[in-house]
Amino acid sequence: MTYVFPPQLIPSLAVFGEEARFPVRRIFCVGRNYAAHAREMGKDPDREPPFFFTKPADAVVGDQEIVPYPPLTEDLHYEGELVVAIEHGGSDISESEALNHVFGYAIGNDLTRRDLQAEAKRLGRPWDWAKGFDHSAVCGPIHRAKQGDHLSGGRISSTVNGETRQDADLADMIWSVPEIIAILSRSMRVFSGDLIYTGTPAGVGALTAGDVCTVTVEGLGSISTKIGSRD
Ligand code: MN
Repeated sequence: MTYVFPPQLIPSLAVFGEEARFPVRRIFCVGRNYAAHAREMGKDPDREPPFFFTKPADAVVGDQEIVPYPPLTEDLHYEGELVVAIEHGGSDISESEALNHVFGYAIGNDLTRRDLQAEAKRLGRPWDWAKGFDHSAVCGPIHRAKQGDHLSGGRISSTVNGETRQDADLADMIWSVPEIIAILSRSMRVFSGDLIYTGTPAGVGALTAGDVCTVTVEGLGSISTKIGSRD
């Protein structure tokens, strides 16, 4: 087979301690998965089913990369998150089987154009422009999940220029990783290479050009993102 022009390379992420990279297929993100963050966004954190939004796979940005301040916004926000990387696809995955589909975990930063998100909410429009812009999916190296060694608790925190902004525990997630995988796979088949951003704790806020945002998850180290000037 030939193409009319060379196809783009498959987006990929580093795997901690290994040379081979993790090919990214799709990026799913859970909205509102920590009660305190739901409250800061003006929502009642009752246990209504989780909802998802997506980002393009080629929005991934690795650790230590500079993200240019995106266009169309005056309110770029960080959202520190645990990211789940899928190795084995499937549909209708049960909660008890879900962790067998996981390749590993990474630290993510779900960059958000908050002003566009607020406008989308107000007008009943999709979130794509708020969430799925270029360089919007920061994700550090993926740490392989060793047998029986899955992340269900541990500190998650974010700093901006060294000042703590988010400080919570993965155990505070409203929906656990197995529940998220089970629910997502009922809606569509998940595939190897899919990433799932599991939601952010309270304390989201704005970034400006020159800021350095660092997200730390116990057991996974830290990732840092510097915000550049506008493209
Ligand atoms: Mn998020």
